[in-house]
Formats: sequence, C-alpha cells, structure tokens
Amino acid sequence: MTEVTLSKVVKRYGSHQAVHGIDLEIKDGEFVVLVGPSGCGKSTTLRMIAGLEDISDGDVSIGGRVVNELPPRERNISMVFQNYALYPHMSVRENLGFSLKIANRSEQEIAKAVDEAAAILGLDELMDRKPAALSGGQRQRVAMGRAIVRQPDVFLFDEPLSNLDAKLRTQMRVEIKKLHQKVGNTIVYVTHDQVEAMTLADRIVLMRDGRIVQVGTPLELFNTPVDTFVATFIGSPPMNLLDGVVTDNGTVRLGDGQELPLPASAQGGVRPGQDVKYGFRADNLNPIGHGVSEEGDAAQIELTVDLSEPLGTETLLFATLAGIEIQCKMLNPRPVSAGETMRCRLAPEKAHIFDARTTKVIRSN
Ligand code: ADP
Repeated sequence: MTEVTLSKVVKRYGSHQAVHGIDLEIKDGEFVVLVGPSGCGKSTTLRMIAGLEDISDGDVSIGGRVVNELPPRERNISMVFQNYALYPHMSVRENLGFSLKIANRSEQEIAKAVDEAAAILGLDELMDRKPAALSGGQRQRVAMGRAIVRQPDVFLFDEPLSNLDAKLRTQMRVEIKKLHQKVGNTIVYVTHDQVEAMTLADRIVLMRDGRIVQVGTPLELFNTPVDTFVATFIGSPPMNLLDGVVTDNGTVRLGDGQELPLPASAQGGVRPGQDVKYGFRADNLNPIGHGVSEEGDAAQIELTVDLSEPLGTETLLFATLAGIEIQCKMLNPRPVSAGETMRCRLAPEKAHIFDARTTKVIRSN
C-alpha cells in the first residue's frame, strides 16, 4: 500500500513562505493532480515529496513512513521532469536500464525490466536510437520508461508535457492515463494546465498562493466550485461572473437594472441588499432554439453579439452584459455576425451565487 500523506507541510525560502501548512491524503493507486497558477507552490510541494527540497515544517509520509529525512533514492519514487533529462550519449535501451545498472542489478534482471517498460510504452522499435534521433513525444516516453523500470511505489510528474506541441500533448495525455490504468501506481502530477488536470486526475488539488483552495474530482470542482477563483480557473471558457445585489423578491439585480432569478441552491443563504457575483457557465446560456433543452424554468436575456467563435459542433458567442464581457454557447450553430441581437435562455438552477466580498460560494444550507 503506497499512500502519500502531507501533514501541515510548510516550505520557507528565507523569509518567503512558499507553502503554508498543507494537509493532503493521497490514496494508494490514486492519480492526483496538483494544479494552479504559476508560483502557487505546486512544484515545491512535489519536490518536497520527492526529497529534492527540505521540508521546513510538518511531515511527508510515503506508505505510512515519515520520509522527511530520507534522501530521494530511499523513498522508492520515480520522477519524470519537463526536460526529460535523458543521457544524450546513451541509446534508448541504455537510458532505460541505467538506474538499475548503477543499482548493481544483474544483466538478466535489467533486460527483463527494460523489455517490459519498452512493451508498455511501445518503445521496442526505438531501442538502439540515441535521444537526438527521437521526436519530443518519443523522448517523453523514454523518460516515462525510465521511471517505470525502477518499479517505484509512487510516480511524480513535474509538468511533463509542457515542452510538447498541442497535438502531441493530447496524445501523451492519453498515454499517461493508459499507463496509470496498466500499472496502477500512485501518481502525483503537477501542471498549470486545467485541461490536463481535468482529463487526467482522479482527484484535483487546486492551489493558490501556497494553499489548497479545493480538493475533489474534476466534476466536483467544475460543478461545485467553493469560490470565484475555482469557478474561473476550472473549465473552459471560465465561468461568467456578473456583479449584482440581492433584491427582496428572490432575484439578483445587475448593474443595468436587469434582474436574474436566484437559483434554489442559494435562496435562504442570502439577504436582501447583499452584494454578490452571479456566476453561470457559457453552456447554461444559449440562444433560443440553440440549447440542449428548452424545458424547465428559464430567464431570458437579450444579447448583442460582439464576436463569434465557430468551433464546429458549437459556436462560442462573446457579448457584453451589464458592462461585463460574457460568453454563451450556441449549439447546432448557424453563422452569426457581430452586432446581431439574440434572445438567450439562461438556466437559473445552474447558476452559482458568490459573496462579492469574500468570493466564497453561497449555499442555502
Ligand atoms: P509553481 O510550481 O506553482 O509555479 P513553485 O513551487 O515553483 O510554484 O514556487 C512557489 C513559490 O516559491 C514562488 O513564489 C517561487 O518564486 C518561490 N520559490 C521557488 N523556488 C525557490 C527558491 N529556490 N528560492 C526562493 N524562492 C523560491
């Protein structure tokens, strides 16, 4: 069993505190992604798990054992970096086997582990090439192969796909997910890319300014963000957020006087006169006749389109509502010109209400 536990983990660089006492329990075999904007402390956290950074305070445990004082090689982890860190003068086969060679494993043992890793990652044809003769994606696969041959308890990935172009990144994402399904190890993966986090993670840990803001499955973070930061960081396009004031009659009045219904989830959690942010996703605001369903309660909003972005099966429309740029989604799209006015349907039960001052979500219970 290889769970990874962080307990009140702090990292200070001189007087600067990069990680503020975080608690996290990662289960055996779980794929956890640490995500957040640049500088939020995710790499530092990963490097403390790896043993590449000292822990200023708190404990890191791997498999039930506190590893604070153990060097990286005694933690039974393998790390895959953004820059691959392959040995340029060695063939793929030698790169894959190198860590076992310096650990004095037998030739036979090394050959077996290397062949297994090569089969898992489809590297068989490339075994005699040097890294310079490989594509970016192939290099990344060798880097992963090198991590696999050591049969670690835990894989640590630090932005492994950042150097690849968009298409390759998508392919490698699928390969990493398949790898996890095959080998089933615990994985801790760092990225700044929310799409990568959403597509790979069993659970996402969203960080900001050295703290954990929310932990949950990708859909939990998407559907029930705890604050406006999560609402705008997770999901593409980001959630629309309009400034408004709660009225006496169960609505939110926007800056332009227009009123939108409060979702049932927030009624009872707000008081009249309260300043709020009215949040909804582009998916839940659709031109009439171009939504998923026309059933259920809806509020109607008239929008003047500033810009349209045809994506094929849907078109993203940009418009200004109460002085804020918002986005809405048109399904079964037809061509739309800038300046066109459209009546749209908002599903208020899908709206999220946030306190304007604290930015925290408001729920009725
Ligand atoms: P992320 O991986 O989320 O981009 P990092 O973990 O690399 O963020 O950094 C977190 C914070 O710690 C940042 O403010 C960064 O400037 C600071 N930091 C990282 N490494 C060092 C270091 N070696 N010395 C001083 N400050 C550092």
